[in-house]
Amino acid sequence: MVDFALPEEVEKIRDMTREFAQKELRPAAAEIDLIQDPEEAYTSDAMKRVLSRAYEIGFHKMTLGSDVGGLGAPAMTSTIVQEELAVGDAGIASHLLVAPMIAGSAASARDRHPFYGEYLDAFVNDTKGEHGGAWAITEPQHGSDLFQFGQPSIHMDATAVRDGDDYVVNGQKSAFVSNGWMADAFLLMVNLDGDGMENTATFAIPGDLPGMSRGKPLNKLGLRTLNQGEVFFDDVRIPREFLVMPGGPAYKMLIERIVTGGNTAVGTLAVGVARAAYEEALAYAKDRVQGDKVIFDHQVIKMKLFNAFRQIEAARALLWKSSWLLNTGKPHLPTAMAARTFASDMAMEVTADMVQVFGGYGISKENSVEKFYRDAKLLQIMDGTNEVVSLRAAEEL
Ligand SMILES: Cc1cc2nc3c(=O)[nH]c(=O)nc-3n(C[C@H](O)[C@H](O)[C@H](O)COP(=O)(O)OP(=O)(O)OC[C@H]3O[C@@H](n4cnc5c(N)ncnc54)[C@H](O)[C@@H]3O)c2cc1C
Repeated sequence: MVDFALPEEVEKIRDMTREFAQKELRPAAAEIDLIQDPEEAYTSDAMKRVLSRAYEIGFHKMTLGSDVGGLGAPAMTSTIVQEELAVGDAGIASHLLVAPMIAGSAASARDRHPFYGEYLDAFVNDTKGEHGGAWAITEPQHGSDLFQFGQPSIHMDATAVRDGDDYVVNGQKSAFVSNGWMADAFLLMVNLDGDGMENTATFAIPGDLPGMSRGKPLNKLGLRTLNQGEVFFDDVRIPREFLVMPGGPAYKMLIERIVTGGNTAVGTLAVGVARAAYEEALAYAKDRVQGDKVIFDHQVIKMKLFNAFRQIEAARALLWKSSWLLNTGKPHLPTAMAARTFASDMAMEVTADMVQVFGGYGISKENSVEKFYRDAKLLQIMDGTNEVVSLRAAEEL
């Protein structure tokens, strides 16, 4: 049976997250968003303060198993928490989503190399926001062609070559890598042994191997609290113990698993951003008087707000279904892509409408609604553009 009632402990976690998002995350994010230089933004006191608080609470380790020091939250619980965090700020919510990327792989690789055990311990015990991973796959010339298998001419330009017990990696990953500027560990995907996207190998590596370097953090339209940046590899020696998967059919399965979970998360962030804009606009509409009339009493304003409410509810229902499928161990790519594309298109429409409800005041940085509008745009591109993930999902129909 379908049941929308949340267990009491999940309601408590949701309420605690909501309070953190409203009282700490939103004000810190508003401060960071206004800092023009991204390097200054990511090293600001506001950023350090809010990341410390988030790590102290344990949001970074929510999805890691309790056996390795994580909080062991099931997919449904983390979806609920992610929405609340994104209502506060979708950029930092994204940072927290990506951060456990390597710690998650390290849990099952402790015996392979001492780095994994040390990294996992440091990550789960981190109360300052100093440790976090990133997923480095996109390259300057490869983004949307990620799913184009069986075509030898299409492959990652960054390459790993076997040399004795090591792999030697050369190349670069794009400026879009989330957490790329701050991460201290990477899930790295590069070409290995032959042509075609299917020959992409996956490594889980420390972020400070000799020959690795970073570009400047990307200065961007929205999600300005999420650091994104290039990573360069110049004859980087990677011990073979860091190879997670060599490529081939298993790579296809891994990538589809990552994008199914990842896109459910991106959709959830979009619901949070849309809800943030809707809640601000609803309160404003009930307060703002024009020509002796509260603007909420205009039918056209009421309809915009009701449309926002209706779309947010619909998007959340789709996302809960995708999370439920992840929870039951049956991730379903078309459902995840439907949920993510619906939610991110919805967030773009709703945030634009909510700026409109504010009228001229909507474009002012005095109000946060313009920030939500900017943040929403990135969610139609993150982890694959809406167009490309829709085309991939359509192949499964
Ligand atoms: C907020 C954010 C976070 C991100 N995080 C990460 C990360 O953590 N790690 C990482 O590696 N990357 C990350 N990315 C990169 C992201 O995955 C890519 O930006 C995305 O895959 C698109 O690639 P591209 O930017 O090269 O665009 P392109 O591939 O150049 O696409 C440009 C346009 O052409 C269209 N297009 C391209 N090919 C086709 C096709 N076959 N059919 C139809 N239309 C097509 C696209 O839809 C798009 O409109 C992130 C991006 C954003 C915005």
